[in-house]
Amino acid sequence: MYFPVYLQERERMALSQAEVVKQSIQEVRRSLPVFPYREDLLLAIQQHQILIIEGETGSGKTTQIPQYLMESGYNEGGMKIGCTQPRRVAAMSVAARVAQEVGVKLGNEVGYSIRFEDCTSERTVLKYMTDGMLLREFLTEPDLASYSVVIIDEAHERTLHTDILFGLIKDIARFRPDLKVLVASATLDTERFSCFFDDAPVFRIPGRRFPVDIFYTKAPEADYLEACVVSVLQIHVTQPPGDCLVFLTGQEEIETCCELLQERCRRLGSKISELLVLPIYANLPSDMQAKIFSPTPPGSRKVVVATNIAETSLTIDGIIYVIDPGFCKQKSYNARTGMESLIVTPCSRASANQRAGRAGRVAAGKCFRLYTAWAFKHEMEETTVPEIQRTNLGNVVLLLKSLGINDLIHFDFMDPPPHETLVLALEQLYALGALNHLGELTKLGRRMAELPVDPMLSKMILASEQYKCSEQVLTIAAMLSVNNSIFYRPKDKVVHADNARQNFVVPGGDHMVDCLLFLFFKSNFRWCYENFIQFRSMKRARDVREQLEGLMDRIEVEVCSSEGDSVPIRKVAGYFYHTARLSKGGYKTVKHQQTVYVHPNSSLFEEQPRWLIYHELVFTTKEFMRQVCINANSSWLLEVAPHYYKNKELEDSSSKKMPRKQGKAKEELG
Ligand code: ADP
Ligand code: MG
Repeated sequence: MYFPVYLQERERMALSQAEVVKQSIQEVRRSLPVFPYREDLLLAIQQHQILIIEGETGSGKTTQIPQYLMESGYNEGGMKIGCTQPRRVAAMSVAARVAQEVGVKLGNEVGYSIRFEDCTSERTVLKYMTDGMLLREFLTEPDLASYSVVIIDEAHERTLHTDILFGLIKDIARFRPDLKVLVASATLDTERFSCFFDDAPVFRIPGRRFPVDIFYTKAPEADYLEACVVSVLQIHVTQPPGDCLVFLTGQEEIETCCELLQERCRRLGSKISELLVLPIYANLPSDMQAKIFSPTPPGSRKVVVATNIAETSLTIDGIIYVIDPGFCKQKSYNARTGMESLIVTPCSRASANQRAGRAGRVAAGKCFRLYTAWAFKHEMEETTVPEIQRTNLGNVVLLLKSLGINDLIHFDFMDPPPHETLVLALEQLYALGALNHLGELTKLGRRMAELPVDPMLSKMILASEQYKCSEQVLTIAAMLSVNNSIFYRPKDKVVHADNARQNFVVPGGDHMVDCLLFLFFKSNFRWCYENFIQFRSMKRARDVREQLEGLMDRIEVEVCSSEGDSVPIRKVAGYFYHTARLSKGGYKTVKHQQTVYVHPNSSLFEEQPRWLIYHELVFTTKEFMRQVCINANSSWLLEVAPHYYKNKELEDSSSKKMPRKQGKAKEELG
């Protein structure tokens, strides 16, 4: 077929120690690249308040450094060591590994905290958590007084929450001289971190890497998923032993790829040796996640099909072959229309190089890039744009305002967000009533900030009190937080699955479907199985709901039911902000006149009601609205948001101006 086509370049890296064979946990710990630097590192930490730590992925930054700190008493007096991770999966997996290394039960001395899941206790001194969770801790403990050390790990990922943490932590470090701050990063951009933190010293952990041969395709691949499958099988049949790592962009692709691989291996039967196919992505249950780390039995080969979580956050030993289609799923944000979308885009050269590097950890490896050398040089960006510059800032602005930070324009951003994005976030929060016309936090805004969900969801929950439907709205908020993973649609049973889904179509729209499903659920695994509903997602929704319900007391919302009446629920769907109206061939958003469509998975796909409220917009082949419900008419909008909608905007007859605007919107889409 198309590969291996030619050897484009060879990364030269120092060859060092041979592969480590079976060792005890302590031996493994001592064999990691960071270990020889243990004393120097501890000394540097003692001498400097802020230290940047740079080291190859897999050198032991995340699992070892917090343990060194524990071993040298940084947890004395009940003080905590916190370590942030951009990803939930990484926080959980790393905490589990470290608990095992320390020899304690996960959740005791070593624990983790991610949104809607707190696996820590009174005894926890080493706490792994998502960057978003540490950010929320500022609300209850603005000086992080219970921490002796905060490690901002995977800093190079530059997630929105990590970037905000940079600013906040730099600030509190000034009046908490006893607090140690470590900023850990793969070998990218450490100079910039140092510069941001007032020239903090950089501690470099020399890596150990073997050479990686990089192959490119001669021509672009039309179907990269198929190309991945073929590549894996070719490697399996023609290449010497060694595990394989494939980078795809998300759960659906990963599942498809795994199915295809398993199916083709079955067909080849005993003609080939065993191929263990293991997926890894954020929503995978943790027992399945753990499988990727178990050693490959002799005579077989493991292939891990991963999102870019395996780029730097998780290190899987034994990988010799990497297959990189060169894509990732990236959020982007149009600050003019307020439209957020998750789009598969080419990854950056920095990402591609990190991915290739995964092949050279235990021996010389090979990386197969399913794109051309030309594309690598000319079509990929040098580095990924920090998330803060391509996302909605509503959540973060609300949080910062709650922390008393009013002047956001002058907040200490490492890279400031675009001005329009900041302004739009302020406008949205004003529209939701969280800020007053001076941009100050209102009482409502303060209560909204207490809830760990998006401002629109928290507004919906708070508004539900007035409309006496908080029971249902809590359910909807919980279901939306596990969104799009409720229904299961196996390729070989598409018709059955779709029929099952039809049984749950109820008037009103997807929000009502969510309520119904939740009502039927009652932890019944069999029921889920028979109706093609993912038990795990439902269970998660139930947990999320429990937690949200637990917070109702604190924000003084009385929990009561609308008793089967969907009108109040649809009215408060705080999403008045996300409203669309039927228009020729599709819908148009009311505020920005953007052409959008109902997602085929929605229960309202066929119905096409006049007014809709949508939860989110996703761009796949078109601009789709996902999770929609019917909004009876424009008077509802005027009722719930008189300050936001003008009667004129909501006039039903298409005005003369429409065609021109339509044309404009189309141009922009095209
Ligand atoms: P870094 O943070 O520098 O990228 P880590 O501390 O994550 O490095 O990883 C160090 C080593 O710990 C890896 O080489 C890997 O072998 C091991 N390791 C990390 N997480 C796990 C896990 N969940 N299970 C088994 N081994 C792990
Ligand atoms: Mg790490």
